[in-house]
Amino acid sequence: MDVHGHLIAGRWVTAGDPIENRNPSDIDDVVGLYARGGTGQVAEAVATARAAFPAWSRTTPQQRFDLLDAVGTELLARKQELGRLLAREEGKTLAEGIGETARAGQIFKFFAGEALRLGGESLPSVRPNIQVRISREPLGVVGLITPWNFPIAIPAWKIAPALAFGNCIVFKPAELAPGCAWALTDILHRAGAPAGVVNLVMGKGSVIGQALLDNPEVDAVSFTGSIDTGRVVARTCAGRLAKFQLEMGGKNPLVVLDDADLDTAVECAINGAFYSTGQRCTASSRLIVQAGIHDAFVDAMAARMKALVVDDALKEGTQIGPVVDQAQLDKDLAYIDGARADGGELVAGGERLNRDKNGYYLSPALFVSTTNSMRLNREEVFGPVAGVIKVADYDEALGVANDTAFGLSAGCCTRSHKHAAHFQANSQAGMVMINLPTAGVDYHVPFGGRKGSSYGPREQGRYAAEFYTTVKTAYDLPL
Ligand code: ADP
Repeated sequence: MDVHGHLIAGRWVTAGDPIENRNPSDIDDVVGLYARGGTGQVAEAVATARAAFPAWSRTTPQQRFDLLDAVGTELLARKQELGRLLAREEGKTLAEGIGETARAGQIFKFFAGEALRLGGESLPSVRPNIQVRISREPLGVVGLITPWNFPIAIPAWKIAPALAFGNCIVFKPAELAPGCAWALTDILHRAGAPAGVVNLVMGKGSVIGQALLDNPEVDAVSFTGSIDTGRVVARTCAGRLAKFQLEMGGKNPLVVLDDADLDTAVECAINGAFYSTGQRCTASSRLIVQAGIHDAFVDAMAARMKALVVDDALKEGTQIGPVVDQAQLDKDLAYIDGARADGGELVAGGERLNRDKNGYYLSPALFVSTTNSMRLNREEVFGPVAGVIKVADYDEALGVANDTAFGLSAGCCTRSHKHAAHFQANSQAGMVMINLPTAGVDYHVPFGGRKGSSYGPREQGRYAAEFYTTVKTAYDLPL
């Protein structure tokens, strides 16, 4: 098998002992071999990005539009093939993989347009005859560190704005899903990204990621991943005064009020809690259900969960793919055991499953009789595990929804305009959904949260410019 290399200074470099990328639906299936870099490769990639920056920052918006638009076109044209690669290496279903690839294509198209639209402001000074012009400029070299759970969309929503606004990048993807990262970098390279503008270095977070954080030539870091690593990114970047942006975990609530449409609420909960095997930072893991609808909701959920098809991500009809790897599976099972020990009652799923292929299969788990203080409801599991918390009324539901260290997404199922409007206004989350799952967002509007979920400016949509540019205020006295 050929080794897929890093991209440094416009050349593919294979060095060191490669990483075996395995299929979580079928552990015997090796998806590919990917180079495992060291600190030397990071230093080279950063230096070449630095050298490429002056020319790239002076390209016209049209040149940047053309590059990003071409990348978007190829992603959309190859969505079936790349969606298959995604499902094979990460374990989400083929339909989800194709959808995510299409989304990555749309993100590149959107930011192609943003390259043209980036404007400024011009206004008169408070002093006579002076003009003031406010403009945005690129930052320089940006390090992008991404997780495995959206292996093409998250890189897309960092790479596209970084390039659109004139930055050069060093991209470090997650070790568990280098295939999509490599494919995306290959597309950027062939679409004409000049040498040094786009660099890819694969390998361990503690080596490659850390070297990016420590390098004084990296002007900014955009990170998506766990809260523990996020703290490392924050400490290191703050220590050397580099700009940083963090997207981390969630413990997202879905409130179901007595006046909810039961079918809508069940679909929101099934989709939000269990699709993509619950491995989304926007997953609904706390189902906060009012007493009057509680029993009907739980019965309908249990019935619906029995019918969910958990199997090979690439098999037709699969609704829930495997857990991403053994470590995550062990973690999910430990949370299930812990929730039982803490007094939660498992009403559906939570079992290790055997399928034709040897993969990390787990049936989605639903607990009832849980309280918001249980570990299950405090910490992010990142698996197909949800707890139901019974509440008396709307006020209690809102209080429980907001009683968390996180604040990414929050949902409420209700027919009441009053409660919907109040929830939207008073939820302490960055994204609020009424009668919709907590997961599943548009690509042209901001994404991000509050409290322990996010730090720094929002990603995606027009708001992405806030992170990937710096503002200049220029004063001019014409003589
Ligand atoms: P996840 O649970 O999603 O894997 P992590 O925070 O462990 O979350 O990983 C997210 C990204 O951060 C990955 O690309 C990983 O390799 C990287 N990473 C892990 N440790 C570090 C570190 N010390 N410094 C920088 N990046 C890191």
